[in-house]
Amino acid sequence: MIDFSIPEDLVAKRDRVRQWVIDEIIPYETDPRLTQHGPTDGLRQELVEKARAAGLLTIQAPVEYGGWGLSHLEQAVLYEAAGWSTLGPVAMNCAAPDEGNMFLLNKITDAAQAERYLRPVIEGHQRSVFAMTEPDGAGSDPGQLRTTATFDGTHFRIDGLKWLITGANGARTWIIMADLQENPHLPSGPTLFLADGDAPGIVIERVMNSMDRNYVEGHCVVRFDGLSLPREALLGEAGAAFRYAQLRLAPARLTHAMRWLGAAERAQSIAIDHARTRTAFGKPIAEHQGVSFKIADNEIALHHCRLSVWYVAWLLDQGEKARHESSVAKAFVSEELFRVLDRCVQVLGGIGVTEETPVSMLFRDVRGFRLYDGPTEVHQYAIARKVLGGGR
Ligand SMILES: Cc1cc2nc3c(=O)[nH]c(=O)nc-3n(C[C@H](O)[C@H](O)[C@H](O)COP(=O)(O)OP(=O)(O)OC[C@H]3O[C@@H](n4cnc5c(N)ncnc54)[C@H](O)[C@@H]3O)c2cc1C
Repeated sequence: MIDFSIPEDLVAKRDRVRQWVIDEIIPYETDPRLTQHGPTDGLRQELVEKARAAGLLTIQAPVEYGGWGLSHLEQAVLYEAAGWSTLGPVAMNCAAPDEGNMFLLNKITDAAQAERYLRPVIEGHQRSVFAMTEPDGAGSDPGQLRTTATFDGTHFRIDGLKWLITGANGARTWIIMADLQENPHLPSGPTLFLADGDAPGIVIERVMNSMDRNYVEGHCVVRFDGLSLPREALLGEAGAAFRYAQLRLAPARLTHAMRWLGAAERAQSIAIDHARTRTAFGKPIAEHQGVSFKIADNEIALHHCRLSVWYVAWLLDQGEKARHESSVAKAFVSEELFRVLDRCVQVLGGIGVTEETPVSMLFRDVRGFRLYDGPTEVHQYAIARKVLGGGR
């Protein structure tokens, strides 16, 4: 049987999260600590303490870590509610990149690694990064990875340049992707490593100015300059980085969609209020077809984005990898939500491009979603290869 109903207790949790974000978190959207480089870590810590007090911190974590052990479908419902403000997921510790990193670390760390690198992130005491993208190497095509790791039997040495590394400034738990060179001890190839953010050899060159400001401490250019790591820094198996990255990718790209869906819903509610109250040519602008069609198109898009997300969440809950389906959903939802935000700006008229409402910020923030976790064209490329034969 196909069942789209939401259980009563989940509805209650959803409403509680949404109301808490509205009452407690939205007032921080005008806090000066929400900077051009995203919320500062100080702001994040204050928000995290509010979520902790409300019993809403890291609710997605496994029960043994104090979380609610949410299924993917439950996450879909609750992350959408949290995403009503971009600061909601920051407060509740279910924002990127930490949310996806926690998911990955929970799957592949050993007990000692989990205590040192995962538990403090789950508890909201430290942040994490996933360092893959490079100016001249890994990006849409991770196969171009240039950062190298050499191994002498006891220590790894990591050298390379990365950029667009979200939250790198001040993060303590680092997941680094590097190409392990041929050696007599371990398999070679793309490999994941764990490091402490304050290790000598991790050099934050600069925080990049960007059009978005929803990610804590923004995005950084990072140089690994002879970063020395012990054997225990190996995350999972040597040479298996792409397999692990895929493990993280389907759920992580889906949770982005869940959170942005909430943000787009909020923009739509603001556009609806405006359309009802603003008049032009003798009537509320909502009564002009050009405006009402935009509101209707938004509603259609939001509904289908939600169905798309729920479907993939359901597949993941069945234990499916949903690689193809999550690609389809990610490409669809990121493109649609960007159009929803654009239409909201248009309905608002001139104030849509000002910061009189949160819509202009959300419009800029959602833009990156068409790029990270795979640009739309890369998903189209993969989808077409599967459909036409010969791929995946
Ligand atoms: C807000 C934000 C946060 C990010 N955070 C992180 C992070 O924390 N850690 C991290 O490692 N990376 C991060 N990234 C980087 C992100 O993963 C990359 O931007 C993404 O993988 C694309 O790589 P690229 O930017 O190098 O684009 P490129 O690989 O240079 O691609 C440029 C463009 O080429 C086109 N293209 C590429 N391949 C194809 C194809 N097969 N068919 C058709 N067109 C194609 C696409 O239009 C693509 O946008 C972040 C990016 C953004 C925008």
